[in-house]
Amino acid sequence: MTDALFRNFIDGRFDEPSATFDSVDPSTGAPWATMPAASEVDVDRAVAAAHRALRSGPWASMTATARGKLLVRLGDLVAANAGRLAELETRDTGKIIRETRAQIAYVGDYYRYYGGLADKHEGAHVPIDKADLDVTIRREPIGVVAAIVPWNSQLFLSAVKLGPALAAGCTVVLKASEDGPAPLLAFAELVSQAGFPPGAVNILTGFGQECGRRMTSHPLVARVAFTGGPSTARAIVRNTAENLAYTTLELGGKSPVVVFADADLDSAANAVVAGIFAATGQSCVAGSRLLIERSVKDEFLGRLKRKAEAIRIGDPQDPATEMGPLATLRQRDRIETIVAESIAAGGVLVTGGMRPGTGTGFYYAPTIIDAGASNLPCVREELFGPVLSVLSFGTEAEALTLANDTPFGLASGVFTSNLGKAHRMARDIHAGVVWVNTYRAVSPLVPFGGYGLSGLGREGGLDAIRDYTRSKSVWIKTSDEPIPDPFVMR
Ligand code: NAD
Repeated sequence: MTDALFRNFIDGRFDEPSATFDSVDPSTGAPWATMPAASEVDVDRAVAAAHRALRSGPWASMTATARGKLLVRLGDLVAANAGRLAELETRDTGKIIRETRAQIAYVGDYYRYYGGLADKHEGAHVPIDKADLDVTIRREPIGVVAAIVPWNSQLFLSAVKLGPALAAGCTVVLKASEDGPAPLLAFAELVSQAGFPPGAVNILTGFGQECGRRMTSHPLVARVAFTGGPSTARAIVRNTAENLAYTTLELGGKSPVVVFADADLDSAANAVVAGIFAATGQSCVAGSRLLIERSVKDEFLGRLKRKAEAIRIGDPQDPATEMGPLATLRQRDRIETIVAESIAAGGVLVTGGMRPGTGTGFYYAPTIIDAGASNLPCVREELFGPVLSVLSFGTEAEALTLANDTPFGLASGVFTSNLGKAHRMARDIHAGVVWVNTYRAVSPLVPFGGYGLSGLGREGGLDAIRDYTRSKSVWIKTSDEPIPDPFVMR
């Protein structure tokens, strides 16, 4: 057991864990904290508490306005504690402190946004086609939500689930990833401070096979909100065959960034570097496939190589560091294998492809592979690491074909100074997000989600609240005439 012990938060209390595991600091490879491993029994207690809170007590009877105020308070607390939460996230996942601080400060805005919307989400009145009947449509909370997040950006990925779910009046059991759960377990203290009644929000961590499986197949769970990889998503869909929970899936990507010769190449190069090397490439929207117009390929790759080799790799807690380690050893092993297979299949290493010699942590150098062909593993598979695969094109049509040549469809980027071309590409790319002459911008106001293997459903924006409700149609007879006997013929 390490010196730092984290706890699950169930029914408004922090539990003494019955089982634990150690969390490793990816910058040193050494265990630094002890985490609770939630069992099926813990999950059952959390779901039961969420179900009780949904049906009776202060949360069930709270007005939407009051729920909104709680969410705004939570947003303020997250922003005020962003520094401490960022240090924990950096320690537990290796994501650099510059990124965690900025991202967590912004997470507060997600809670404020959904807090503001909580009492602006309305039902409807239907101009019914029958005399003497009146129909209203109520929007009711869908029920207990099982929310499951991966290890990267856990506070952010939780906010896009908790915010709309709580605004809608649902109750939530949220599972932090077993990799890097510290910031989310610490966030539970803010939920408690904000004043959410017991059972409204339960936060735990544990392993997918036990804790995650029980959460997503539990008979009292009505809604599953999942972010993670496609193979886990398939397991979750099988789990929900048990409870038929309404499910949204935010999955991986192999996002293309298309750079035309007429683009501002300096600006595009900075965006490409940020798109793939920020968060050490461990971002669902990582722009991992560069499609570059052939006439500027050599010049552009030269710029990228210089920029990649200048990236400061080091201690993620140091504000001067520009790229940290990968979050897990497993992750680095996988990347090394796929890079080696891609080189063996004809890919040419432009830079990187090795460990940078930065001590004992799980570091991997910024890597660029001139892939040459679309069938290389580095072009097909999501690596979730700092590896950019490059393909070139001659025409706009060819660029579009390459951009859409993937089973994923999460994000994409287009760099051009031609407005018509930008519009055509934005219309024809099969992806849930298209960034034109920019990359990686996000906002609580804007829906986010993928096509194909990148997922099902959308998070963010106004409609997300609706996704945590279900409708109830209420038919009321407005005439005082008694209902005639149906067996008397008229
Ligand atoms: P993962 O799929 O391995 O794990 C995600 C979560 O699922 C973890 O909490 C894990 O414990 C849980 N889980 C595992 N098996 C389960 C099961 N059988 N039942 C229920 N839960 C189970 O993903 P990861 O490796 O932690 O994260 C990386 C993946 O997440 C990448 O594919 C990345 O693209 C994706 N991602 C997507 C988005 C998005 O918004 N689209 C954002 C971030 C990450």
